[in-house]
Amino acid sequence: MANKELTICLDAGHYGKYNQSPAVRSYYESDMVWKLHLLQKKYLEQYGFKVITTRDNQATDLALYTRGATAKGCALFISNHSNAVGSYVNDSVDYVSVYRLYDDTTTNCDDISKEIAETLAPVIAEQMGVSQGYRVVTRKSDNDRNGDGILNDNYYGVLNGARAVNVPGMILEHSFHTNTRITNWLLDDSNLDKLAQAEAAAIAKYFGMTKQEENEEKIEAEKDAADEVLYRVQVGAYRVRANAEAQLARVKAAGFDAFITTVKVDA
Ligand SMILES: [Zn+2]
Repeated sequence: MANKELTICLDAGHYGKYNQSPAVRSYYESDMVWKLHLLQKKYLEQYGFKVITTRDNQATDLALYTRGATAKGCALFISNHSNAVGSYVNDSVDYVSVYRLYDDTTTNCDDISKEIAETLAPVIAEQMGVSQGYRVVTRKSDNDRNGDGILNDNYYGVLNGARAVNVPGMILEHSFHTNTRITNWLLDDSNLDKLAQAEAAAIAKYFGMTKQEENEEKIEAEKDAADEVLYRVQVGAYRVRANAEAQLARVKAAGFDAFITTVKVDA
């Protein structure tokens, strides 16, 4: 079966040079999320997702609501961040938090948001090796932002925007840039690469998407099964069993699966 047509909207949570780390001065949250969301895009595309981003370039400021609403028609909206506890170094706080949509009985997107948030949060915590685990949280606005008479609107502007266009949205807080170890971890591009790969894999699994090459292999396997043909790979036939075993050992040493079968030879 071919992959579905699904689009994901990725948001770099801040633009320009924003939220410098008090722990490692070369770190800016805005720089990290810009890199991370481009890596997420690359890896999600490998699973056949179409990916759009809220910003064309890192220097552009965009309103929160606008960024969330950019996700119109998408299967998922993700806003990327790293957190801060106060404005000083705090090496004891390092949990991962994922903000999902606030509960809403008039739509499904909040339920999907919750499911994906609960899928992603432990993946991020594991990748980052945090000591305090993860939290899946939600925050309600005190105001009836959409004027429908129900106090169930989202506090965060990006999530308010995503909800307005009926898209499961979430904010990923990749631990804390007030924590020295975490900040150094986030400054290492190879860590961001692994993180983005793990996030893309978890999202793909949720939506049942597989990588292009896996799809092609699956289609080939299905075709082969339909034809009811076996394709045998033969590396030789030997009169002396010891010679066959020696050849088998060489094939296995090369990393292939193999075994010996016997064939009756006419005298
Ligand atoms: Zn942020």
